[in-house]
Amino acid sequence: MLPAVCHPNNASAVLPTPVGPLPAAPFTDSLLRSPLLLHIPHASTGIPDDACGDFVVDRNTLDAELLRLTDRFTDALYGDGFPPAQIVAADVSRLVVDVERFADDAHEPCAAHGMGAVYVRTSSGAPLRAISATRRAQLMDQYYWPHHHRLDAMAARALEQFGRCVIIDAHSFPVAPLPTQVDVGDPPEIGIGTDAMHTSAELADVVHTFFTDRGFSVGVNRPFAGALVPNAYYGRDQRVQSVMIEVRRDLYMNERTGDRLPRFADVQRVLTEFRALLEAWSMPTTRPSVS
Ligand SMILES: [Zn+2]
Repeated sequence: MLPAVCHPNNASAVLPTPVGPLPAAPFTDSLLRSPLLLHIPHASTGIPDDACGDFVVDRNTLDAELLRLTDRFTDALYGDGFPPAQIVAADVSRLVVDVERFADDAHEPCAAHGMGAVYVRTSSGAPLRAISATRRAQLMDQYYWPHHHRLDAMAARALEQFGRCVIIDAHSFPVAPLPTQVDVGDPPEIGIGTDAMHTSAELADVVHTFFTDRGFSVGVNRPFAGALVPNAYYGRDQRVQSVMIEVRRDLYMNERTGDRLPRFADVQRVLTEFRALLEAWSMPTTRPSVS
């Protein structure tokens, strides 16, 4: 076993205030601007000190894994100018806990690759961490459940205020396939993920039309499928709608170095326009057509 390492690898890795087992109250106190929520699960590179001892890889391996798996800059790509109170972003790297996964490995297909909510293998299939059931539960209590309590509460707030909730589940993906992909063919520039119950045909059509009209190649449920829905409403309440957007990383960053490309701002502008369209679409009285 190699020594465990710890290395938040950039400034954004500094963690916000500590999270507890229950959601903090303030985010439900103010009125939302719209029923639109932005879910950003994979932008963080943060690995807190207390999670470092679990890793069994060396620093280079961990760096490579962070570069491959982090949806780098997606907070800036999708969230520019959006009210922070309507953004639910993971506090830590997906290498600590992946909030996009089902909590129970029995229901999580990616667990077959050692990449359920608590990863135990790298994206190449090598051992990543040695995690006991007790330690897994600790990590879930510390990082997974607070995130989902917050998401549940935000959705409840949107439903209370507007009678509906629309979620953009915001991601990016590498050109080279990951083991968890459902499709490893020629990757589109934009992947749209839908949920059978929580992505209406109208919503899927609005999203697909927006990106194809702007000249992007678009895959539906490829290379990744599905869209995150808050636990409290999943499979129960169609007033909660969700769509996943995956931007191919070579559109905005150098995948080898992790640096932004000059055209980052162009992609950010498109996604900001997209978010504005969905925000208008999400309002109870407004259903603009796409053009
Ligand atoms: Zn992602």
